[in-house]
This record gives sequence, structure tokens and C-alpha cells, in this order.
Amino acid sequence: MFVAVDDTDSMKGNCTTFLATEIIREFSDLDLIGNPRLVRLNPATPWKTRGNGSLVMRFGKGVGKKRFIGMIGDREIYCYDRCTSFEPDPEMMRERIIPHIEVHHEDESDPGLLISRIKPSQSMYWKGVRTILDRSIVDEEIKRIGGLTFEIGCGRGLIGCTCGMAWRPRDTTFELLSYRPSDRWGTERVFDPITIRDVEHGYPSTFNSWEDRTGKVAMVPSTPCPVMYGLRGDDEEDLIEASKRISTEPIERWMVFLTNQGTDDHIIMDPKELIPNQSYRIRGTVVSSPRHIKGGHVFIDIMDRHGTITCGAYEPSKEFRLMMDWLDPGDLVEVYGELRDEPRTLNIEKLHLIDAVEEYEKLSNPVCPSCGRTMKSMGSDQPYRCKQCHTSSIEPVMREIRRQIVPGWYEPPTVARRHLSKPLKRMGLQQPVEFLHNRF
Ligand code: ATP
Repeated sequence: MFVAVDDTDSMKGNCTTFLATEIIREFSDLDLIGNPRLVRLNPATPWKTRGNGSLVMRFGKGVGKKRFIGMIGDREIYCYDRCTSFEPDPEMMRERIIPHIEVHHEDESDPGLLISRIKPSQSMYWKGVRTILDRSIVDEEIKRIGGLTFEIGCGRGLIGCTCGMAWRPRDTTFELLSYRPSDRWGTERVFDPITIRDVEHGYPSTFNSWEDRTGKVAMVPSTPCPVMYGLRGDDEEDLIEASKRISTEPIERWMVFLTNQGTDDHIIMDPKELIPNQSYRIRGTVVSSPRHIKGGHVFIDIMDRHGTITCGAYEPSKEFRLMMDWLDPGDLVEVYGELRDEPRTLNIEKLHLIDAVEEYEKLSNPVCPSCGRTMKSMGSDQPYRCKQCHTSSIEPVMREIRRQIVPGWYEPPTVARRHLSKPLKRMGLQQPVEFLHNRF
């Protein structure tokens, strides 16, 4: 039986991933089938609190090998990869989950709970991660699969529940989330940043934990939610191993979630049309110089087959904005980002410089081919002339300028990245030029 919850938190507190661990704790009489899933949906969704995450679990009777994936208090949590045909009673599950949602939701949230034996159509995931969905489409799908629901407020969370439950993992990553005891929620988090740096450097399968450019931790939230940290990576065993090396105040529970984070699933690769509140890969030529506006935001125009698109790197992307200054008209680029509505700009998440134009500067006036002397300028729009030999030329002697930027991939600092954006580390790439000596 699949269970999904969404839209329970606000910036003031709570966390839907914590609610998921409470649901797992509740069903100690059932087996967890597969890891709990943290499925990120369209980052451009206007109603999101932070990362637009939906939580999905499957419960039943497990068979075969079981994997150790977490601790809740003193209890070890395991999950099975396979299950029998036994399905728990959905009504019973609903009655047992509702009190947890009632306790762990914020007043301004619109929680949804979906319980279903059948998964929604996979197309619901792709719509949920790439477009803005209408509630009526989701309600139809819930009806089709015979899902049992519960909602508070306007129940918008059911959109995320349905799209998250529809995910058939293709590219996947893991996140080990650890949680603080409830009496510490809202207080300053205590941890040793150096242990986090050592984990990011020592475990190549982890990503987005540490920012080398600034020497800062990126995996510890600053909101009053129950999370101590989230350690992301490609290998579940590495995460469990690495987390033991991270030194923090005592943690009350931890759990490894299977996620679509760092996969670029939200990017529409070859768009036929550009609709705002969706994310795209645009391939085109730079056709403007960078424009800086108040607030530290930088924009350039790119021409592709859809026309001219203004692309922006905003203040939170810090030194990434330098890359915009290094671009020149004529450069061939591939830009990944979210198209905003008003003003219509593509918010750059990652840039691939495919080909950099050659740039030249004038070194001197042309040299006379007869006498070897430098020719003289005869005024604007006039050719250069050699007074001695009466030869002329329109071409001064030019020198190629070494560009600051070289072809390759460029990305913003870890803290400014989307949960869904695939980091260069996961692509097996490194930025060819670092911004280190050119801080804004
Ligand atoms: P957190 O990540 O901190 O748990 P959140 O960022 O997931 O919070 P929510 O509180 O879940 O934010 O709010 C997102 C809301 O948007 C939910 O109600 C969800 O159902 C809805 N939603 C998610 N994806 C879409 C979409 N593609 N179209 C329309 N609504 C969506």
C-alpha cells in the first residue's frame, strides 16, 4: 500500500519529511517496502514553502533481503526490496495517520494524504515535476486509482501526493536526513563544520554538503524545522558511513530517503514553446553585453530558435555572476534554468559555454609592405597610408585577447542551487575556471 503526504509545513516550523518518519514509527507492525521517497516537484510552483518536496512510502509484508536505512530513537529501521501480495487495510492506515498530520502541520499549510494500492500514471510525475497542475486533473487520477484521501484547508497537498507517488525512479540519489530532539527545535544548531568538509572531500559519491569556494557548510538548514542536516549522495552505504564522521549535537533519529534530487528531471530539454513557471535547456548565441541592475542581479540576452531570451543570474548566486561578465556577444551557450513570468527572464541554474568567440584588440597601425614603416591614419573612414611609398591598407595589426572564460560548464554555489539541479560533481565534471580571486 502506497502512502503519500505533502504540504504540512511553513517557514515557521514542521517538516513533511519528519512527518514521514512519524508515519514509519506508527506502522512498526508493517514492513517498509523500499526506502521512503522524497520526491521534489516543479521548483517554480508558486505555493511551495521551500523545496516543493512530496513524501511517499510503501507498507506491506516484506520478503527477501532487508536493508538498514535508519534509526528512530533506539529502534532500527529496515526496508525490504520486495513484498508479498498482502496489502494492509487503507481505512485502518488512514485512521492511524490522521492524528500525526493533525499534530505535525502548520496552520497556514494545506495538507494532503493519499493512500492507494495502485500507483498513479507515470505521466503525473512528469507533469508534476515540469508543469503547473490543476487540482481537477489530480482528482480524476485519484478517482481512477481508487485512492483514499484526507485533507486539511484546501487540500492542495494532494497534488504533490499524487505526482510524488507516480514517480518511477530512473536517475536517483539518496538523502540521509537527521533530526534533532524536539526540545532543541528552534535553537541554534551545534556541529563541527570541518567534519562536513572532510565528508564532502572524502566521499566522492556525496554532493552539495560543503561549499569549497567560500569554505561554508551547505547541508545544515537555518530554519526552525526539526532537521539537523541532510547529507546527499549517490550511494546509500556511503551516506550511512559518512554520517558517522559528522560531528553534531545528539540526534534523535535519521533516515535514508530515495530522491530525485540532483537529477535535472525538472528540465525540459528541447522545448517546442516556452511557458513561464517551467524550466528549460536553451541553446543559443549571446547577443548582448551583461547588464547589472540594483540588488546585484546580472542579465544577458541569448538568441535561440524561439527568439531573444533574457537570462539572469541573481544576487544569491554570488560569484557565479562573474561568468556573465566574462561572456561576449557571439558565444555559443547552453543555459539551464527556470522561466519566470514577470519580468520574463530565464533564471540560470547552470551554463555550458560550448564555443567562445575569438576576441582581438588593435596592436598598431598597419606596416608598409615596401619600407616596413608604420602607416599613418588619414582620419576616420579613410585607409591607412605610407607617406613614403604611397601604399595603403584598411587593416591595423590586431592581437588576439586571451578570454577569461573557456568552454565548459559553470554552476552557482551549492547554497544557491535547486534541489533538482544536477550538480557538476554528479556529471563527473569540474568547472574549468574558478571564480576564487574575483569575489563580488
Ligand atoms: P518542504 O519542501 O519544506 O516540505 P514544500 O516546498 O514541499 O515544503 P509545500 O508546503 O509542500 O511546499 O507546498 C507545495 C504545494 O504545491 C503543495 O500543496 C503541492 O501539492 C503543490 N504542488 C506541487 N507541485 C505542483 C505542481 N506541479 N502544480 C501545482 N501544484 C503543485
